[in-house]
Amino acid sequence: RAAPASASAEQRRRERLLSSAQERYFAKPPHIERGWRHHLVDADGRAYVDMVNNVAGIGHSHPAVARAAAEQLRLLNTNSRFLYRSLAEYGERLVALAPAGSGLDTVLLVNSGSEAVDLAIRLAWAATGRTTMVALREAYHGWTVGADAVTTSAYDNPRALASRPEWVHVADVPNPLRGRHTGPGAGAAYAAELAGELDGLRRDGRPAAAFICESVLGNAGGVLLPDGYLRDVYAAVRAHGGLCIADEIQVGFGRMGSGFWGFGLQGVVPDIVTIAKPMGNGFPIGGVLTTRAIAEALGGEGMFFSSAGGSPLACRVGLAVLDAMRDESLAENARDVGGHLRRRLEELGERHPMVAHVHGAGLYLGVELVTDRATLEPAARETAAICERLRELGVIVQPTSERQNVLKIKPPLCLTRESADFVVDAIDHVLSTGW
Ligand code: PMP
Repeated sequence: RAAPASASAEQRRRERLLSSAQERYFAKPPHIERGWRHHLVDADGRAYVDMVNNVAGIGHSHPAVARAAAEQLRLLNTNSRFLYRSLAEYGERLVALAPAGSGLDTVLLVNSGSEAVDLAIRLAWAATGRTTMVALREAYHGWTVGADAVTTSAYDNPRALASRPEWVHVADVPNPLRGRHTGPGAGAAYAAELAGELDGLRRDGRPAAAFICESVLGNAGGVLLPDGYLRDVYAAVRAHGGLCIADEIQVGFGRMGSGFWGFGLQGVVPDIVTIAKPMGNGFPIGGVLTTRAIAEALGGEGMFFSSAGGSPLACRVGLAVLDAMRDESLAENARDVGGHLRRRLEELGERHPMVAHVHGAGLYLGVELVTDRATLEPAARETAAICERLRELGVIVQPTSERQNVLKIKPPLCLTRESADFVVDAIDHVLSTGW
């Protein structure tokens, strides 16, 4: 991954200092200096529509977040060993977002998604006294040791499957486009297979502590789970005495355009929910929502403490984000603009044979590109080139999925219809004129 001969001075500087494993995008990455709402602005003053930033969920440089952070930094920032009002307020607001009657009434705050997943695994181990984690193929759950163990994406690590620890069991990914089961019965068929594997794990004397998956398969390309899949899988996991973990780090927080959580699309309620990215709009906040009984099990292992997790600063930022989401109706915007965007992208598929499928919902979409619709041969090389060309046209879109042939679309939730149209027109232009 050495910088190409044409690399800018800034790019050379970065590559001298950072490890080659530290991911960057684009052959010629733009030098970004500012962000505003769903736009990024480079060092030359050129603006781009940012279609990939689900961390800046409420939009870049949100003034309410900047104000809350600045005020709190002048007042107090300390660790969560003390009493202060914003921690309780933020905890109450998060718990109030859980589905009524779900029992998800307890919050643990950390600093990132990876930490949230590690904590969820620890909670599951503590609450069940077991260690086996069941994860799906093509998943990304983070870089820390625990989160990495349940990460199975061959894009992130080509040796992923061969190198998972023995306490991780990997089940097939229920991809309704490419998988072994398609059509209306796909969810039940995949779930029945997974139930069989749970039986096998029990027979082998290592019953499942928990099942973890994204409620929409974000890292597989925004793939919606087949109907009924999580209902059946959660029932099977619970019948075996295991817990169900929903990784909502990408797909939660109002992004799917229908309710606050991705798991709502499947009509289920998890035992543990991991949250992060958009919580702090770029300020590092992560957390876990769970039941009191599960959270209390951790106490049996001693104290839990994260120095900056749940700090007054983090909580004030988190509250400002939730206020902005409510006041600016951003979940509703995800439904409205996301629905419009999806219709327009599907319409592209009627004219461009490369567009095999539009995955996802709300403002989490994936446009799957193939070289042949019959064989679904992934158009990986073309997808990379199309993203480079889109960047030249002022649109930031990146390839995703294990096959790198899906245009990842997860913009800040304040995306406008006008910008959505600009993006689809740009994709249409590139698909029509070449890249
Ligand atoms: N889970 C999912 C589904 C993610 O997409 C990510 C980040 N891409 C993580 C966990 C890890 O989050 P973080 O980068 O904040 O550690």
